[in-house]
Amino acid sequence: MRLSRFHLHTTKETPADADVVSQQLMLRAGMIRKLAAGIYTWTPLGLRVLRKVEGIVREEMNRAGALEMLMPSVQPRELWEETGRWQKFGGQLLKIRDRKDAEFCYGPTHEEVVTDWARSELSSYKQLPVNVYQIQTKFRDEIRPRFGVMRAREFLMKDAYSFHLTPECLARGYQVMFDAYTRIFERLGLRFRAVQADSGAIGGNASQEFHVLADSGEDLIAYSTGSSYAANVEKAEAAAPGPRPVAAEAMARVATPAQTTCEDVAALLGLPLERTVKSVAVVGASGFCLLLVRGDHQVNEVKAANLPAIGADYRPATEEEIVAHLGCKPGFIGPVSPQREITVVADRTVAAMADFVCGANTEGFHLTGVNFGRDLPEPALVADIRSVVEGDLSPDGQGTLALCRGIEVGHVFQLGQTYAKSLGATVLDENGAAQVMYMGCYGIGVSRIVAAAIEQNHDAAGIIWPEPMAPWQVAVCIINPKNDPAVAEAAEALHGELQALGIETVLDDRGLRPGPMFADIELLGIPHRVVVSERGLAAGTFEYRARRAEAAEALDKAALLERLR
Ligand code: ATP
Ligand code: MG
Ligand code: MG
Ligand code: MG
Repeated sequence: MRLSRFHLHTTKETPADADVVSQQLMLRAGMIRKLAAGIYTWTPLGLRVLRKVEGIVREEMNRAGALEMLMPSVQPRELWEETGRWQKFGGQLLKIRDRKDAEFCYGPTHEEVVTDWARSELSSYKQLPVNVYQIQTKFRDEIRPRFGVMRAREFLMKDAYSFHLTPECLARGYQVMFDAYTRIFERLGLRFRAVQADSGAIGGNASQEFHVLADSGEDLIAYSTGSSYAANVEKAEAAAPGPRPVAAEAMARVATPAQTTCEDVAALLGLPLERTVKSVAVVGASGFCLLLVRGDHQVNEVKAANLPAIGADYRPATEEEIVAHLGCKPGFIGPVSPQREITVVADRTVAAMADFVCGANTEGFHLTGVNFGRDLPEPALVADIRSVVEGDLSPDGQGTLALCRGIEVGHVFQLGQTYAKSLGATVLDENGAAQVMYMGCYGIGVSRIVAAAIEQNHDAAGIIWPEPMAPWQVAVCIINPKNDPAVAEAAEALHGELQALGIETVLDDRGLRPGPMFADIELLGIPHRVVVSERGLAAGTFEYRARRAEAAEALDKAALLERLR
């Protein structure tokens, strides 16, 4: 490949609206272009990387015995009604109508479609187990698309679904997928951790997430320093013996309305005073107690009262006002109690606190399934009052917990019979009796992985691709200000030779000066750079530099090939 013929469009400037390094670098390198919020074009450069990830995922899925198929993105409402998810999925479901006014959604996931396939395709236990997968564009109308392709609305996912006659067989199939995922992330050259995850409302026994470890990750992971225990923090909290003392004490205090100072509240919640004072805190407990801390209120005291006693400072709000104020979709609020008129407009940070402290149940409104800091802004305050903190005893009793941040790149799930039951997906067993199948589902965020890899591997000059993800392994750069044909020929020859050896090589024949040329190659993160110049040619050497190396070195052809092979 010649860079002169490859549409490369790099920029020096950091785009103003890019909040994380991967987004900045992907835009600067010209890998992606934004079309609309959370919707991106993958340029020829970006697509090369995306396809690398896809290729490894596909190889390992095939190796694990999964069968590739391709299901439709556009899915009829009726099917989603059968599982109840047309409503339950909430605001993330993009609903569309055709010219006959029939309703569809753009698939955010494919349990419904694949189970529909299974109920018509599979009829005998002899056809089981079977695992089918696809690599396909998904659409989720994320409440806050951000971080470029990391939390996009349109994104590429590999989703696999397995069907089994028995739970034991499901558990084995699940393990096969778990092992395949481990190989995938190892092959991609990423530092990652598999953690236990909550199987949540869907039910089922086991669920694990794969996280790429990076400080910018949206998720918090707890792992034991003394054992293999690792879980996402929600799961770790569920396993914790109870709220940690400050949270418990805070709850006890708010359940007993009393005059309290801001300092007390700050101390109880373990928060810096300024933060508390700046926020409006709403904490509901079973006694329907609201605790309001108003930083903008010129009071250094906390008003605590039973709801009916709320004073004139706090006016009732409608559900619409709350939705607008929180900047969330109506789907995130509910069920609203009959007393909705007594709901108080709260600062969004505080709603997060209330949600956390009271287990998502303040009288009047209820935020369901919200991941704060992701679906709603300002995560710090919530993180500060978690009931699992560094140094807690690990739930398995071995060692203490440490916390780190991760980016969820994969998720494996034993669904059990939930979907098969609601869609009536059965097969006949050995005795000719109909049995509801057991299902597993297994997702990988193919496009998210590209960004996650950059979050983990970059420096001031740009991206540093793990080799298996790089758009090219080697860049051959021509420095030839005098237009010496011998230099150009030597570079062409080396490029050809490397290609013939199966090493993906790009020839930088754009005729740039060394400074801008090297800056581009570093920004693009190409693992190996070879410079062909008149001086090197005269000395019989090439200038070689690995992307992470401090300095370049002069190597003769044999030594160079040795290095690159
Ligand atoms: P998250 O918790 O980050 O919202 P999720 O748990 O909703 O992800 P899953 O339903 O488990 O996502 O989907 C499988 C995989 O798809 C995830 O592990 C993630 O890698 C990827 N993914 C999910 N949502 C997005 C998104 N908005 N943009 C890019 N990738 C995504
Ligand atoms: Mg999600
Ligand atoms: Mg998740
Ligand atoms: Mg998930």
